[in-house]
Amino acid sequence: MIGRLNTKEKKVTVIGGGISGLLAAYYLHRHGYEVTLLEKQKQAGGLIDTIMTPYGLAEKAAHSFLATPSMVSLAQGLGLKLLRAQTRTRYILRDGQLKRMPLSPKEAFHAVWRFLFSRAQSDAQTFAQWAKEHLNESAMNYLLNPFLLGIFGATAENISVKAAFPRLATFPGERVWDALRRTPKKREKTFLAAFEKGTGSLVKALSQDLTLKLGKNFVLGKAVEELPRSGNVVLCVPAYEAARLLQKKHKALARALEKVNYNPFVQATVFLEKRAEIPKGVGVLIPPQEKRKILGVLFNSHTFAYRTVSQELHSVSVFAGGSLFPEIVSLKESEIREIIEEELAALFHARKYIRHMEIVRWHKGIPLYNEDLRLAWDIAEKLLAQEEGLILFGNYTGEISLRGLEKKASQLGS
Ligand SMILES: Cc1cc2nc3c(=O)[nH]c(=O)nc-3n(C[C@H](O)[C@H](O)[C@H](O)COP(=O)(O)OP(=O)(O)OC[C@H]3O[C@@H](n4cnc5c(N)ncnc54)[C@H](O)[C@@H]3O)c2cc1C
Repeated sequence: MIGRLNTKEKKVTVIGGGISGLLAAYYLHRHGYEVTLLEKQKQAGGLIDTIMTPYGLAEKAAHSFLATPSMVSLAQGLGLKLLRAQTRTRYILRDGQLKRMPLSPKEAFHAVWRFLFSRAQSDAQTFAQWAKEHLNESAMNYLLNPFLLGIFGATAENISVKAAFPRLATFPGERVWDALRRTPKKREKTFLAAFEKGTGSLVKALSQDLTLKLGKNFVLGKAVEELPRSGNVVLCVPAYEAARLLQKKHKALARALEKVNYNPFVQATVFLEKRAEIPKGVGVLIPPQEKRKILGVLFNSHTFAYRTVSQELHSVSVFAGGSLFPEIVSLKESEIREIIEEELAALFHARKYIRHMEIVRWHKGIPLYNEDLRLAWDIAEKLLAQEEGLILFGNYTGEISLRGLEKKASQLGS
């Protein structure tokens, strides 16, 4: 979140009703502000929605999150049931095999040694440069890259340490531990969670709650074309939309926001007969070295209850695209289906057990946390430090996950 409220002014207009805007409106109202929310679409939620298929639920974006005490009380307040993950086992594909620990003992020992003791020689900007100084090649290929692909859909070459995980950024001469000690973090008790009826139930419950509380000031189907002039404005639209709305008032910031890149994604929820041998666990991440066409697979029905309508079915979600295979979003539905089927055949010999596939495409899915984004933050921070009453908030302002967005929103106006 960038910018601050003008606390003398109790009126706030929230523009955008994705999860960021809904949460911002929810907490601002709780903190005594008079809120108006304007959302372009007829339904709020933005990227997030849950589709009920005859086979079970299919998410359009977020599936799960780390539940903090604050997320738990939000769910309780909205009357939503949270499910705890039934497993925490995660796999990484190496040489075509699913491994819980993808490094050999020698590689792991070397990587840990370097992580603990090796000192930075430069002010590394990308994770690839950072990994050269603080890890080894196998840890970069089989731990770091799959992890980054799983969150951002991009590899270490395209992700800035300072943008994505600023606590890990080292100055020349520092070890990673020195950097972590510089900014100690309060540990919160968390658990991997999902909503019983899918993440869509969160946006529905927030929309209902805000309809009751804001009345006619909860406005759907209203595309904002110009920044409102008075009071506080919390801009909860994607960076490219924020750029358009700020064009007249803040040209330099608008130019920087235009340069924020978004990775395209395809997400396919696949329902399979139980005979398909899906390993027990949360899912598998796939490093680029494996030369597959997908980024990873979540094992939905192993991780959470109520993901399928019958005990005789598995549900998995397959992710593809990102910066490794962006063209996939523009392929025909039948071509995407063929790719997903081929990949599930290669990984789990599961093609013949597929019963249903729900494909979602996002041409602009997740913002790329690179140096261009950091530059936009710098410009925004400088400018908005001098101007109260304008806030930029969304998955491009420092937090991508539901957990992170909820944490920031809960601090608004408190
Ligand atoms: C495939 C995928 C899987 C994901 N999985 C997870 C996960 O498992 N866990 C997790 O924590 N996170 C996950 N995420 C991330 C998370 O879902 C997103 O970061 C989050 O939903 C972004 O919400 P937002 O409100 O910032 O943006 P958006 O959802 O993009 O909302 C922006 C809103 O602004 C509205 N808008 C735009 N222009 C205007 C205008 N001019 N006037 C009015 N309204 C406007 C839009 O209609 C939209 O509703 C995933 C994301 C993707 C794409």
